[in-house]
Amino acid sequence: MTAERTIRVQVRDGADYPVVVGPGSLGRRLRELLQDRAPAHRHVLVSDATVDSLHGDRVAGLLDAPGGPPLRLSFPPGEASKSRSTWARLTDAMLEAGIGRDGLVIALGGGVTGDLAGFVAATYMRGIPVVQLPTSLVAMVDASVGGKTGVDAPAGKNLVGSFHPPRFVLADPEVAGTLPRRERARGLAEAVKHGAILDPAHLEEIVSGASRLLDGDPETTTGVVARSVELKADVVSRDERESGVREVLNFGHTLAHAIERITEYRVSHGEAVSLGMLLEAGLGEALQVTAPGTGGRLARALAAVSLPTSWAELGQGEPGDPGDLARQIVEATATDKKARLGQVRYVLLEELGAVEGSRGWSRPVDPEEVRRAISPLLASETRPPLD
Ligand code: NAD
Repeated sequence: MTAERTIRVQVRDGADYPVVVGPGSLGRRLRELLQDRAPAHRHVLVSDATVDSLHGDRVAGLLDAPGGPPLRLSFPPGEASKSRSTWARLTDAMLEAGIGRDGLVIALGGGVTGDLAGFVAATYMRGIPVVQLPTSLVAMVDASVGGKTGVDAPAGKNLVGSFHPPRFVLADPEVAGTLPRRERARGLAEAVKHGAILDPAHLEEIVSGASRLLDGDPETTTGVVARSVELKADVVSRDERESGVREVLNFGHTLAHAIERITEYRVSHGEAVSLGMLLEAGLGEALQVTAPGTGGRLARALAAVSLPTSWAELGQGEPGDPGDLARQIVEATATDKKARLGQVRYVLLEELGAVEGSRGWSRPVDPEEVRRAISPLLASETRPPLD
């Protein structure tokens, strides 16, 4: 049996929080972790309606606080709920229920729940603690670790938010057993990214476990989630406020966000990140920063976990004129929130497992150069070779 793993994430002032990963860990560890790390007068259990109906009763049954049974709050599943209006509805419900500064928010769900409930906790009465119980792979390998919380605004995703690290994260891969296969693949995009920027052995682990990961095997999932969390935790521990090395986590994301924008968010984040990483690997190769063949190797890992490696596979129709599509993508990068001094920046690989660091962790690239480099990769017949 896979042993449970605990990874520690540093926050400021030398404090840290544990991320506990293991099959069955929710039933086994939740009570004790709450007692040790997040004692509270009353619990507020926040989930979307899908996760609430699948796992809410069981988790509520594990909660025990002196102030009475948990206040259970839910909202419709999906990104549209990660909004200021849901935030207002949840905080109003907490005020009405008399939750005080000794309350604790427990986020049970995917990344939408984690970000939204985390932001509720960050702002309620100027901040109360939060615990993250991620149930999707996106949330386990990425969203629950690092302390970023927030909601979307009409002007863009994640534009209103706060850093609010959790008291602990408890990721039980058995809970992800109810996750649809496609959602599992989407979550693996960020795990592939962690391997691509930091650890080629992690990529190999994902490729060799691909079918078990897609089937939701808890043991294989535990190994991959734990390693991915370890890689992300190491980066965010070195850089709690995204001032430096944390930028490497943005690999693939400059173009992924542009793809999400031009498709009006019909393409999921994980699928956009998959193609975004390939395009940015191709950009690095064109600039002779990235070793030739890196994009092809990355494509092999992404295809192994059923992630798209071409525009055509995003299900948005054929690319039409790839040059024109490339221009639209590059234009859509102009509003990237990580642009600095008006310049859009890219994290480039030197090779799998190593990010170019000689000019800081990212560099601006001339938009015309980006367009030229990615156009051929968008033509459906010229997707990168899978070997
Ligand atoms: P999500 O929370 O909407 O979950 C995806 C779908 O899976 C939903 O329909 C949900 O109901 C369902 N689901 C979740 N767990 C399930 C389970 N165990 N069984 C069955 N269904 C389940 O979205 P997501 O993909 O988990 O996360 C995406 C969000 O995370 C985005 O809003 C993104 O911005 C955010 N995010 C945040 C960070 C961060 O650092 N804070 C990092 C990455 C992503």
